[in-house]
Amino acid sequence: MLSVKALRAGYGRSEVIDDLSLRVDAGEAVAVIGPNGAGKTTLLNALMGLNPQATGQMSWRGQPLGRGTAARLRAGMALVPERRELFGGLSVIDNLRLGAYLRRREPASALKADVEFVFGLFPVLQERQSQMAQTLSGGEQQMLAIGRALMARPQLLLLDEPSTGLAPRITLQILQALDGLRASRGLALLLVEQNARLALRFSGRAYVLEMGEVVLDGPSAELSHDARVIDSYLGSGATHA
Ligand code: ATP
Repeated sequence: MLSVKALRAGYGRSEVIDDLSLRVDAGEAVAVIGPNGAGKTTLLNALMGLNPQATGQMSWRGQPLGRGTAARLRAGMALVPERRELFGGLSVIDNLRLGAYLRRREPASALKADVEFVFGLFPVLQERQSQMAQTLSGGEQQMLAIGRALMARPQLLLLDEPSTGLAPRITLQILQALDGLRASRGLALLLVEQNARLALRFSGRAYVLEMGEVVLDGPSAELSHDARVIDSYLGSGATHA
């Protein structure tokens, strides 16, 4: 579905992503793991049209993908940013509605159905629909950030470190909900995580990113038994994760 070749991205003179290739097929969950500063966030931003310096070939279902975030959203991609970037002073439901901005000409009933869908996925958001986003707990904010991205009706959801700052139980709940969407609706996931154990558990394939380059890739089940991955990212007891 998404195919990326020779991607380069960075800031000023510093090139962070160097000649990277990657693909995500329809309905699959793909993880990108790597240490701090490897370029994971820069990669997702480049894919979403948010790194003005990004160059390379990107295609979507075999067609060249337009530059800029609106083109990526229209194609069917949506990003859940690491800092969540909610509108803190707006209510839960208004944050969700803003996620459907590009679909604003659609009938209100379609948007309402999608809000209901997000509430079905994360019922706590329904209970808190009138509450300001900044008053939500960390886990609720992550659910809202994901819900807002889903309002764009993506076929591929890019997730930047969804576990950041969350209790393991909440992270698990969120990833299980997304895995359910993948299984039931064919939503593809590109999951960037420092928590390699979690990322490998919730993906079918993975890329290991170091210093802006893919140093290893393959089925997640195989990578979780790879000595290099265990040494660098999983530590002892990895195979029991
Ligand atoms: P982390 O896991 O810590 O979030 P990461 O793998 O997501 O790291 P990036 O955030 O993509 O890595 O950062 C990669 C490199 O790019 C780092 O050296 C960082 O300092 C640099 N960088 C990131 N954002 C900017 C920016 N806006 N301007 C200049 N340099 C940046």
